[in-house]
Amino acid sequence: MSPDENHKILFEPVKIGPKTTKNRFYQVPHCNGMGHRWPRTMAEMRGVKAEGGWAVVCTEECSIHPTSDLTPATLMRLWDDSDLPVHELMVNKVHEHDALAGIQLVHNGLSVSNYLSRMPALAPSAAPTETSNSTQARGMDKSDIKALRGWFRDAALRSRRAGYDIIYVYAAHGIMTLLFQFLLKRFNQRTDEYGGNLTNRVRLLREVLEDTKDAVGHDCAIALRFAVDELLGEDGMNKAEAQDIVGSLAELPDLWDVNVADWGNDSLPSRFGTEGSQEEYIKFVKQTTSKPVVGVGRFTSPDTMVSQIKRGVLDLIGAARPSIADPFLPNKIQQGRSDEIRECIGCNMCTSGDFVAYPMRCTQNPTMGEEWRKGWHPEKISKAASNDSVLVVGGGPSGLEAALALSNRGYDVTLSEAASELGGRVLQETSLKPLAEWKRVSDHRTYMLSTRSNVETYVDSALTAEQVLELGCTHVAIATGARWQTNFIGAHHRQPILGAPPEMVLAPETILSGSAVSGKVMVYDDDHYYLASAIAEHLAEAGHEVVLVTPDADIASWTHNTLENAHIQTRLRELGVAIICNHAVKSVKQKSVTLACVYIGAETTVGVDAIVPVTSRKSTDGLYSELMEIPQQWSDHGVQSVTRIGDSFAPGTIAMAVYSGHAYARNLNTPTDYHTLFKRENDFDTHKFLESPRI
Ligand code: ADP
Ligand code: SF4
Repeated sequence: MSPDENHKILFEPVKIGPKTTKNRFYQVPHCNGMGHRWPRTMAEMRGVKAEGGWAVVCTEECSIHPTSDLTPATLMRLWDDSDLPVHELMVNKVHEHDALAGIQLVHNGLSVSNYLSRMPALAPSAAPTETSNSTQARGMDKSDIKALRGWFRDAALRSRRAGYDIIYVYAAHGIMTLLFQFLLKRFNQRTDEYGGNLTNRVRLLREVLEDTKDAVGHDCAIALRFAVDELLGEDGMNKAEAQDIVGSLAELPDLWDVNVADWGNDSLPSRFGTEGSQEEYIKFVKQTTSKPVVGVGRFTSPDTMVSQIKRGVLDLIGAARPSIADPFLPNKIQQGRSDEIRECIGCNMCTSGDFVAYPMRCTQNPTMGEEWRKGWHPEKISKAASNDSVLVVGGGPSGLEAALALSNRGYDVTLSEAASELGGRVLQETSLKPLAEWKRVSDHRTYMLSTRSNVETYVDSALTAEQVLELGCTHVAIATGARWQTNFIGAHHRQPILGAPPEMVLAPETILSGSAVSGKVMVYDDDHYYLASAIAEHLAEAGHEVVLVTPDADIASWTHNTLENAHIQTRLRELGVAIICNHAVKSVKQKSVTLACVYIGAETTVGVDAIVPVTSRKSTDGLYSELMEIPQQWSDHGVQSVTRIGDSFAPGTIAMAVYSGHAYARNLNTPTDYHTLFKRENDFDTHKFLESPRI
């Protein structure tokens, strides 16, 4: 199969300095929580993307020196030669598939912990570090600047030795990079030739670019990653200064990789922005330079990509999240299978890997991070060794993913869903407008299942235990989900709150189903992820007076890990939602809720017409329990196994439900024990771990 005629432009080569890409698909640098700590996991993940058709596959940010130590985050390092094997591992995987490998070298300046190195942080001018632990960064003197230029040069030379094709100079993402800190008046109060006017503030960036070109520019392409706007107006990088900077450095790099800052604006969650949202900020760059330009915008539609190129916005289609959700996106477009793209939903579950320091996971792509340690490939799965049939009960994310992966393995699958439409909790939650794009989780799987001849799908089919057995499938996967509890049990309340008038307490499902609610509503968040804030937003948009209460010190606190928190805080305040933190529900009476301070117990009573507790969910496991009570009847109907998956086994995120469904399908009729669950990277003898020199 070949690409749609209109999409052929996406497969043209692009020259970047001494290198040429095989097409316009460019995986920009993105962190993954694997980095130097889980190098094989990282390398295999990058290799799979190269296999999926990305012409360029880059690392995440790679620290050049122990004064830029991000511990406990798990990113790349290139401090000395002992780091090279990790890089070679990745470069080789990328080159195996005829793609170019890029490395994003960084010094993070004052945006570091240095918990491992215990060295003082460096900054353009003395200032507190970003770790907020009473630690100050040292203002750099001339010898520090000279040393920094040397570290960048050494790292560039090492990068070339590791085999990288594209070497980044990184001045983006606001406060995260030292070279960007030098550009900004709020960090740079120097009075020498590196501070003051813009020419001076750009000087170090220019010097590092020139040094890098001088060191490796004959063999490697030099990319400059630059944030053209911090969306802070006069206080930050803004259009006027960015235009001057791009104008003055226009022809120096071989490639401009441009975006907006901070990271939460760059990897904008779908709740707060759509595909291509950066265009208005970055589009001037291509008019200012003759060098190729790459940019991101959570691009998943080939038509949008083509439009970006034809309208002269970008030369290369940059992607982090779309390449995570579907590493084979380029190949699918090339093969005329765009309808099969597993589109990123913009939930940013993937960014939590960096914040929490674990191997990244993805809501849409359950194989992400499992390529090496479990041998899971996003497009390949072992064929079924038997003619067994499988009944999947429940068409939420776990049931849908299980059915799809089982069908890919060649099993005959029957999928039965009680509701009139597939999707389960995804269908419910995406009735909230801000979460609408998350429906791609069920849309993709529902569409793919509709193309399969070995899957029979039934809706409006709530099955009883008797009916399950009558269907006579060899294996039964129970994916019946979970329901929100209304007894207030949650992370804070381990016991139910008794005595609440039932008409005062609305389950989240009541709001999600669009039932009429009247008056002032309290949303109580003891779940700490996205749903309570999304319900509060939805109710406020609908004209309700809303108060959001949480026992936590912050609302939706886990969404710091998904880059949603600042946006949520802003939007709720703009909508006039009253926010009360550090308070737990004590009692609910007719038209009022009494709250107690979590520290001193001081009570406050708030008059409301209803309360929506978003606290915890209970598995819908009645069907499973019934089946487990009658195991003697299974064999009469040919049933060999009954297994709970997804929320009916353990309520969790949508990502966990998809993963659970996938794991079930992968492991059906295969031996699984502790040792085959996943491989660990602690075999020092087979991987060339090198002892570093003392630094
Ligand atoms: P998960 O996140 O684990 O996929 P969901 O709650 O999203 O779980 O989906 C569970 C689905 O199972 C819901 O759509 C629900 O209607 C369906 N379901 C629950 N019980 C039955 C049943 N007995 N027969 C068929 N479908 C059921
Ligand atoms: Fe997209 Fe969510 Fe997957 Fe990240 S986790 S790539 S935002 S679907």
